[in-house]
Amino acid sequence: MDDDAGRGEGAPRTPSPIAELRDDRLGGVRLFLKRDDLLDPELPGNKWRKLKYNLAEAARLRHGTLLTFGGAYSNHIRATAAAGRRFGFATIGVIRGEEHLPLNPTLAGAAARGMRLTYLDRTAYRAKHTPETIARLRAEWGEFYLLPEGGSNALAARGCAELPAEIDAQLAAAGGFDAVCCACGTGGTLAGIAGGLPPGRRAVGFPVLKGGEYLAGEVERLQREAFGAPTSNWSLECGFHFGGYARRTPELDAFAGDFHERHGLRLDRVYIAKMMYGIFALTARGAFAPGARVVAVVTGGAGPA
Ligand SMILES: *Cc1c(COP(=O)(O)O)cnc(C)c1O
Repeated sequence: MDDDAGRGEGAPRTPSPIAELRDDRLGGVRLFLKRDDLLDPELPGNKWRKLKYNLAEAARLRHGTLLTFGGAYSNHIRATAAAGRRFGFATIGVIRGEEHLPLNPTLAGAAARGMRLTYLDRTAYRAKHTPETIARLRAEWGEFYLLPEGGSNALAARGCAELPAEIDAQLAAAGGFDAVCCACGTGGTLAGIAGGLPPGRRAVGFPVLKGGEYLAGEVERLQREAFGAPTSNWSLECGFHFGGYARRTPELDAFAGDFHERHGLRLDRVYIAKMMYGIFALTARGAFAPGARVVAVVTGGAGPA
């Protein structure tokens, strides 16, 4: 393993670019896109920020292997495999459900980067973080550094907590910012961003799963672990899941198609399109004051074509 994992050679270079999005539908609100998707082709966006301090910790503890959990289309699984390859860790991916061959592009990419894959059926997967399951995995695979599902833990939140200062420095000339928005899967990214915000700003999270209200407890727990106490500067907008995780509707597709035509940017339907739809809807509803400067974190998955 690489003692400098997460810091030295091979680490994506921050800051990621930021650019204002000009769109007449925004009225007086100024919207900036923080392009974390451009940080690194293999370690995009929040996945890198969440891994960074975990890799350093794994190296510090002299672990040679990372083990983590995810669905068959998990961006986190793919990023962990890429990080392991780049920084010299063996990787094990514990995948929800049964093995399907041939592997889909996410899992094939992970396997090509040396990740060993193992599967838990849905019932067993639900118990993935219990001591019994972890002990069983240790018996089978040996010692490892454990990254929870989605990579969200206290160190991940601390990595994401670096975003606000980065944005602040970039937008100083524009007068700073008022709010930061992000899409939420496990809530780790939101927990971190909110934890790193200077006073007087807020963070808005857009859960991409149905019933995203439950994430509030998760965000609080992660903030308690990362920063000692939850912060009161964030909220969840739970009305933009479009049917649930990886679900889409004609309305969402139409929005993303139109957005692509206007701005030349293809929005990933699982996360970014839902957040962006939500930001435009909130703006139309007057949720942001006229003149407010809002930053949308493009956590991954956007592309030019
Ligand atoms: C994983 C992911 C998220 C969700 O991040 P959480 O920290 O799990 O809430 C958001 N956007 C993209 C593009 C992702 O890949």
